[in-house]
Amino acid sequence: MSRLLDVENLTLQFDTDEGRITAVDNVSFTLEAGEVMGLVGESGSGKSVTAKALMKLNASNAHYLDDTNITLHLEDGPVDIMSLKSSRDLKVIRGGAISMIFQEPMASFAPAITIGDQMVEQLQIHTDMNAKRAKEVSIEMLDRVGISDASTRFRQYAFELSGGMRQRAMIAMALSTKPKLLIADEPTTALDVTIQAQVIDLMKDLVSEFGMGIVFITHDLGVIAQTADKVAVMYLGRLVEQGAVRDVIRNPSHPYTKGLIAALPSLDDLDQPLSPIPGDIPSPLERPPGCVFNTRCSANMGAICSRDIPQFSTVSDTHQVACHLFKQGDAT
Ligand code: SF4
Repeated sequence: MSRLLDVENLTLQFDTDEGRITAVDNVSFTLEAGEVMGLVGESGSGKSVTAKALMKLNASNAHYLDDTNITLHLEDGPVDIMSLKSSRDLKVIRGGAISMIFQEPMASFAPAITIGDQMVEQLQIHTDMNAKRAKEVSIEMLDRVGISDASTRFRQYAFELSGGMRQRAMIAMALSTKPKLLIADEPTTALDVTIQAQVIDLMKDLVSEFGMGIVFITHDLGVIAQTADKVAVMYLGRLVEQGAVRDVIRNPSHPYTKGLIAALPSLDDLDQPLSPIPGDIPSPLERPPGCVFNTRCSANMGAICSRDIPQFSTVSDTHQVACHLFKQGDAT
């Protein structure tokens, strides 16, 4: 595998009526070509904002701190995402080298333009294909994602397709330009379970076929276990644990990750009550000092947790955790 993406010290703040808030705080990770990384956490943990930062897609009130570095490694050389300013520069990555798919496919399709016209337009913006070739490639791609009678669907509008079919059409459109990096933001959450499994299988096939990297955002660790090679767990804008998916799920070390796993229903014991993490994720306006999880952590050790920001410690070669408990050797 070769390095596809380096994210270093990503810190992102937003100006709001109540003041400046920190949505992403000093986040660093890497992704190799052909690798799937799951980014997990509850709503409000900063997953989507982090993913949008990879394409500089956040709103105009966003401020990236100076230390932030995001580098996408393409065949023609590295692209410094933070240095891209004009919409012409950004077009190279948005919908070209990087594509994004969303939970709600209607957000990706203009309602009054056929799916085919939108796919052709995207291909003509990002490739040198003529309209005839772009149409052929679009229909091939619709067929490739399992949409039957693709040439008829090509002429239809998004509202004429079922939810599962729209999701597949959105994946087809996102992949038609052969992006190097696919950002999938809760792509299966709105689907029923059987369609969800099909879409996950499809994405895994396409990763190996196209050799692209995927950042897969979800609140569902079960989906990550099926899909990802590695996982990064996020809470209130910070990464709290990251590593190979098997290591993190079999040997979770951060109390938050342990809580997410304990909250999953067990098929072996349907009578066992669910154990949600007590409390709610705080507002970014009320970020706790020290460890951001300290207001909900049952293992909170007092002063050190509410004063000092925990740094990453090594659990194994492929697994790191940011928790004072671990540093003291009590995390297993
Ligand atoms: Fe809990 Fe302290 Fe670890 Fe934070 S640093 S997760 S409060 S034990």
